[in-house]
Order: sequence, then C-alpha cells, then structure tokens
Amino acid sequence: MTHYTYLILGGGMVAGYAAKELVEQAIRPGQLCILSADSALPVERPPLSKKFLAGQKDEDSVYINKPPFYQQHGIDVRLNTAVTHVDLPKRLLRTASGEEITYDRLLIATGTRPKKLHVPGADLPGLFYLRWLEDSKRIRAAWQGGARRAVIIGGGYIGTEVAAVLSDRGLDVTMVFPDEHLLTRVFTPEMAVFFEGYYRTRGVRLLPQKRLARLEGTGRLERVVLESGESLPADLVVAGIGVEPVTDILEATGLRIDDGIVVDEYLATGIDDVFAAGDVARFNDLVFDKPRRLEHWDNAVSQGVYAGRALSGRREPYKHLSYFFSDEFDLSWELWGDPKDAQQVVYRGQIPAGKFSAWWLDKARQLVCAFLMARPDDERDLAQTWIRQRAKLSPQTLADESQPINRAAS
Ligand code: NAP
Repeated sequence: MTHYTYLILGGGMVAGYAAKELVEQAIRPGQLCILSADSALPVERPPLSKKFLAGQKDEDSVYINKPPFYQQHGIDVRLNTAVTHVDLPKRLLRTASGEEITYDRLLIATGTRPKKLHVPGADLPGLFYLRWLEDSKRIRAAWQGGARRAVIIGGGYIGTEVAAVLSDRGLDVTMVFPDEHLLTRVFTPEMAVFFEGYYRTRGVRLLPQKRLARLEGTGRLERVVLESGESLPADLVVAGIGVEPVTDILEATGLRIDDGIVVDEYLATGIDDVFAAGDVARFNDLVFDKPRRLEHWDNAVSQGVYAGRALSGRREPYKHLSYFFSDEFDLSWELWGDPKDAQQVVYRGQIPAGKFSAWWLDKARQLVCAFLMARPDDERDLAQTWIRQRAKLSPQTLADESQPINRAAS
C-alpha cells in the first residue's frame, strides 16, 4: 500500500494544470501521484484536432508540463494504470494490478470518453475517434501515409476541426451529420450558413440530415454506407459524435452522479477531501447561478488550476466566465457565456464576410453570451464585462455599426 497526500485520478488536462499549481503551492516531492489510464503525460487537447493533427506542431510542444517536470518535482505519474475500485470512506483506490493506494485529498479528473458508433463494420481498421494523443497520432499517420478520401461522421467540434485540417492537407473530405446544420451547439442557423458556405468553397462536401447505416470493407474500411443508400468511398473515417463523462468506477461510491459528478462552487463533492474538476464535473456556475458541465479547454485549465489550490487547502468559490474557441481553416472564433437561456440574438458586422459578432440576450435584454470572429478588441473586452455584469443592452445599437459599441449598454 502506498500513501500520498494528494492523489489525482485521471491524467488529462486537469491533472496537468492541477499538478503545475500544486508545485506553485510548494508541495514536497513524494506528496502527489497522478493515476492515468492514458499512455501519455497530460497534453493540451486543442492541438490534437488542429496543428498537431496537421503535422504543424511536434509532440514536445503539446505537453502541459515538459516530461522532466514530474520527476524534478517528485510527482509520481502512473501511466497505463486503470483504477478498478474506489473506496472513498477508506480513502483508498485499487488499480487493475491489485495495488492499493491511499490519500489524504483526492481530485477526480476522469474526463469524458468518445461515444462509439454502433453500426455494422464499426470494428474495421480505418475508423478513428479523437480524444487522446495516440488517437491524433494515428489519424495523422493515416493521412501522412497516403489516405486520400476522408469521411467525417458528426458535425460538432471534432467534425468541423478535423474536416478543416484534412481538407487543408489535400484530402477529399465529406462530412455526414444528422442535424440540418453544423455545430448546432453554438451556431445559429444564420451563422451556420456562413460556415457551411465556407467549408464548401474549401472543397468539403457536406451531407446534413444524413445517418450512417454501416461501414464496409474487406479487412479494412473502404466505404461508408448511409441510410439513404448512398455509398461513400473512404480510406479514413473519423467519428466525432460526442462524449460521455467517465464515472463507471465511481457509481457506488457515495458520490452524486448526474451526467457527471455533482460538485459545489468549491468543486467539492460533498465527501470530505474529494474534489472533481473538468469535463467530468457538473458544477454550479456562479456567473449564471446554474449547474453546468463544460467540455472545453478553458474549463479544464481554469478548474485544474483552481482544484490544485483547493487540494492544497485554499478555499474560495470558483467563479469563472466560460469561454470556448475554435479554429477552422483560417477562421478563428471565440465564445463567452452560454446561449441556452437566450431569447434573441443580435448580429453586428458582416456575416457573409466572416467578420461578425453575435450577442445573445435574455428576456430582460441582459447579455448572456457573445460570439466573435475577426472583430475589434473592444468588442472582445466588452462582451466579457457585460456578461459578468449582466448588462442590459440595446439590440438596435448593438446591430448598428455606425454607432460605437459601448453605447449599447443603457
Ligand atoms: P460534439 O461537439 O458534441 O458534436 C457531436 C456531433 O455528432 C453533433 O453534430 C451530433 O449531432 C453528432 N452525432 C451524435 N450522434 C451521432 C451519430 N450517431 N451519428 C452521426 N453524428 C452524430 O462532440 P465532438 O465533436 O465529438 O467533440 C467531442 C468533445 O471534444 C466535446 O466535448 C467537445 O466539446 C470537445 N472538443 C472541443 C473543441 C473546442 O472546444 N474547440 C474541439 C474539439 C473537441 P446532434 O447534435 O444531433 O447530437
């Protein structure tokens, strides 16, 4: 049996940033252990579906902490280590090899895992999911190894980013997705029409409102067959059809699980000295005063840092304005807040030119979410300030570019 003061279950982004923060808080060698089922040290995820996948970034550049960091600070990182049993009252975890590890404080950062396709042929080589460094390496090796025709299943974050990279690398790319539009989590139909037009001009074939029937091939994947009967030749298929929180081994542990592990505004689970953070945590977002579970880089970074502090004994509420970003081809956009409870969206700028912002207002005309692409910095700054302040905005002034943006706040 080995004992640690701090134990992190999960080796993703949260673990990387929490470890970095614990070092800032001057932990001693031997106090921290990270248990990771992954084969790689914690990496930044955004490059895995962007520049690393495109072959424009090398492996060394994606690590959150350079590999020697862990040894230098006496942090035990156990890779390829599955935890099979968790006993929170005893503060004990057991690994697949039977080893027992105890702790004083535990951070659960098991993240999410990709949902899998359940269609005939889903076991054929040539179908990829993208979550871990190894996944990105495999897809990169496939296109660098000569794959020419790619089919992307799903029109969300992974689908839009991977399609852009592969198309940019010269592959023939077809996207198949069930919705009417791309990235419905974020894009309004007006915004989606712009992005879809852009993808088409870059040569990507879009097949909205289409469903997969099966994957076919002899020994490896050769075709994607749709429910409509259409058959798409493919050397490479990437499915990005969403993720699910990894909570299986935590089911009977006394934790509250409800689409993720429920935590309070301190990221505390309600069980003494047990915290959860990142994709797996359903936390109370104090900016909006509502429960949310977020699957984005910024959430993993900010909650990872916060959880590192919380583990080391600091106690202050977690209050952070949620932020998302994405890059596709030469487009880059950012989004703050949450569009879910909005009543209206106001656009500023030129959607067809790809230079616009979108402002989501609730029923009291208070700003709850803003999207910006190729816009001036003052819009970027005001968007964040106004969401935090719940500023009441004039839709007419917002939409009227002849008026300075700051006049929109009444
Ligand atoms: P996602 O953004 O939730 O998108 C999933 C897409 O797959 C949706 O279009 C969904 O349609 C579709 N879909 C669902 N079931 C399907 C099926 N059986 N067949 C075909 N399409 C199906 O998830 P993701 O793209 O897989 O991304 C995975 C995770 O990585 C997410 O947590 C995402 O936030 C994260 N990520 C984030 C970024 C970023 O923030 N820039 C980049 C990459 C990845 P419906 O909407 O109709 O369900």
